[in-house]
Amino acid sequence: MKCVQCDSINIVRNVQILDLAPGGFRNLKAGVEKRPKAMIFKDMRAVDIHGNVCVECGFVMLSVSKGGAQRLRTDKSTAEKT
Ligand SMILES: [Zn+2]
Repeated sequence: MKCVQCDSINIVRNVQILDLAPGGFRNLKAGVEKRPKAMIFKDMRAVDIHGNVCVECGFVMLSVSKGGAQRLRTDKSTAEKT
């Protein structure tokens, strides 16, 4: 793996990407609403985001797992359109 900004191979892989929430830290997620037009209960489907950090320049490369990406695509394609 190479840094997309500086081409370094000095990468810290698979770090958690966190946000401070009430009660402690939570992992950031990428999500899809299955019912985006609903007033409530939008049925959010989300997968964890993880990161790879370049030690040389500090650039953070975010991604989700392959299975998570596939779930998001399925959830997006089957989400209610109206
Ligand atoms: Zn870099």
